[in-house]
Amino acid sequence: MKTITLIQGDGIGPEITSAAVKIIDAAGVKIDWDVQTAGADVIDKEGSPLPMRVIQSVRKNGTALKSPVTTPIGKGFRSVNVTLRKELDLYANLRPCCNIPSVKTRYENVDIVVVRENTEDLYAGVEEMINKDTAHSIKIITRQASERIAKFAFEYALKNNRSLVSAVTKANICKLSDGLFLEAARRIASEYPNIQYKEILVDNCCMQLVQNPGQFDVLLLPNLYGDIVSDLTAGLIGGLGVAQGANIGENCAVFEPVHGSAPDIAGQNKANPTAIILSAVEMLNYINENKKAAMIKNALFKTFKDGIFTADLGGTSSCTGFTDAIIKNLQE
Ligand code: ATP
Repeated sequence: MKTITLIQGDGIGPEITSAAVKIIDAAGVKIDWDVQTAGADVIDKEGSPLPMRVIQSVRKNGTALKSPVTTPIGKGFRSVNVTLRKELDLYANLRPCCNIPSVKTRYENVDIVVVRENTEDLYAGVEEMINKDTAHSIKIITRQASERIAKFAFEYALKNNRSLVSAVTKANICKLSDGLFLEAARRIASEYPNIQYKEILVDNCCMQLVQNPGQFDVLLLPNLYGDIVSDLTAGLIGGLGVAQGANIGENCAVFEPVHGSAPDIAGQNKANPTAIILSAVEMLNYINENKKAAMIKNALFKTFKDGIFTADLGGTSSCTGFTDAIIKNLQE
């Protein structure tokens, strides 16, 4: 039986995690969950929102399913999500964004994969107050990390029959940092003559995404633009409730939804668990449980086809009601 780390998170985390675990169990996948708590709730007892045991667990098991974890603001702790990605060198943030059958949106032709660099840029956390009225935040871009993520994007495109990689930057303003990112992307692109390579500025990219998302295929972005643009692409396919994600490194992978802990709807049984379910489907593919992964995805899509939706998608179903409907479809 495969052991997988389960980080339940906070806010809507426990509700959506419970949904995903129940569905995986109902599909007959035997997983020994190594449950790890993190976030604000463990600070008092363990002195950190991300105790070492969590990192060690993921390192040991190689795979994790993670819910959103809130890092308390103003208490001097670095973001749990950023630290986990850095510590485990989960350098690639993969966020596929594809229309979901029966989920009505403004667009019908969205099939985009966002590949976001996950370890540097403004997320390096190098900030200082120059004086009481001036703050500096350092944007770090290295050739090595940029080439590594570009290679990931092109390899992904190759393996998944995708034909276009677009590098998204603001290189007209951040000439050195984003310029270096592009230089790295161009070098890697030259090794993949069968995959088309384009460059686009992030502001224009946002407008083009809203006007005609069908023109994009794989998007390759530094960390911050990747964060913002992947929320935008989530909006194209029905919002954060359906947007899946994965953080991938050489030795381990953490699968997690794009969304945060949604404190505004926490504890109300309103959350849409689709994003974590789709993340879990990718996790099952990652551990070669492809048949079960497909079963779960089909049951989820059938649930939408049956007209069962949570409130974020205009429906009336609760998180648990939606989960039960998926389980029923699994069993049919
Ligand atoms: P973070 O910065 O941690 O990513 P955020 O500020 O982007 O978080 P979220 O917690 O992702 O914010 O929530 C943004 C909005 O989307 C909120 O109104 C929230 O209720 C909604 N939302 C997020 N996830 C879901 C979900 N799974 N189901 C329904 N609504 C959701």
